[in-house]
Amino acid sequence: MNYYAITTKFSLFTLHFSPKFITFAPMNPQKKRLLGLTPTELKALVGSLGMPAFTAKQVAQWLYEKHVKSIDEMTNLSKRNRELLSAEYEVGTMEPIDCQRSKDGTIKYLFPVCCCDTAANETGFFVETVFIPDHDRATLCVSCQVGCKMNCLFCQTGKQGWQGNLTAADILNQIYALPEVDQLTNIVFMGQGEPMDNLDAVLRVTEIMTADWGWQWSPKRITVSSVGVRNKLKRFLDESPCHVAISMHSPLHEQRLQLMPAEKAMPLEETIALLKEYDFTHQRRCSFEYICFGGLNDTPLYGREIVRLLEGLECRVNLIRFHEIPNVDLPASDEKRMEALRDYLTAHGITTTIRASRGQDIFAACGLLSTAHQSHQTH
Ligand code: SF4
Repeated sequence: MNYYAITTKFSLFTLHFSPKFITFAPMNPQKKRLLGLTPTELKALVGSLGMPAFTAKQVAQWLYEKHVKSIDEMTNLSKRNRELLSAEYEVGTMEPIDCQRSKDGTIKYLFPVCCCDTAANETGFFVETVFIPDHDRATLCVSCQVGCKMNCLFCQTGKQGWQGNLTAADILNQIYALPEVDQLTNIVFMGQGEPMDNLDAVLRVTEIMTADWGWQWSPKRITVSSVGVRNKLKRFLDESPCHVAISMHSPLHEQRLQLMPAEKAMPLEETIALLKEYDFTHQRRCSFEYICFGGLNDTPLYGREIVRLLEGLECRVNLIRFHEIPNVDLPASDEKRMEALRDYLTAHGITTTIRASRGQDIFAACGLLSTAHQSHQTH
């Protein structure tokens, strides 16, 4: 749900933005990654290597509390156990290979990823991750797939098609290896890909981020977006306490179908009916993302339809500016229309904000992220 990032305009290995990231040190392909493993899995792992069970807890602490990048740093493990572990495993972090800095402070990183399944058994993939500092908040927008299958009309990631699912380690690495990791206050799954289409990995990451044995973040700091995917969205709502953000973009079935083919598999009415079965009146929040297209979905008719659809659901709406992309004939809305829609929804009891565009000068604003070029230039 690529609302923060927009098409990458730099080419890989033309690394003129930040010499710091010129070196790309890929993981050792002979070794497996510890990153992303749960305590249960770590326990089985250390057991298979003949180590005592409590070693699993120590390793989990080094990974998820102390954020070490090498097994050598796990100093309360004996030298022999570190060597045993290192023979087959490594922490598995990968540094970003490039970054672009916006004049507004937004930073877009390019991360290498391994992927667990890919469209054509290919390797050499990358995703973009956007760091957005804003007064007392610092949000990270992470990606969960290379490309996307959902093919939303307004989205450059959709144009890229789907190339692969990120592993939990790939997703976690975008946080772990972020230079600004200590500043983070929030994480949104709104980069490349549909989170429900890679749900096992997404749930594993949200668990690691919020578990007592993990990063111990409050679920209130994490928002996972979705177009609405049958069965998967329900599973997410049942299994994760994190916030959910639904991509609405139109309250009308026919128009939403044109904008978002996913409407066919799970119509918005059905998504909202499902959401109404859950409690969003306390800790957990439900929001709707709404890109405004001038004259198309920002008139009073749409305000009325949104109010009708959302009646009885505790939620908020975020209005988003559309950033035009090549070969897509959709107009951007203007400030006046967006403010009128916001005021209408607010007057009818729906908390509505207009999201500020960030990182437009580095193509990291709301809309369109694509790493198609990078992923294939590296073969
Ligand atoms: S194609 Fe649609 S679902 Fe996929 S990343 Fe773009 S906006 Fe999100």
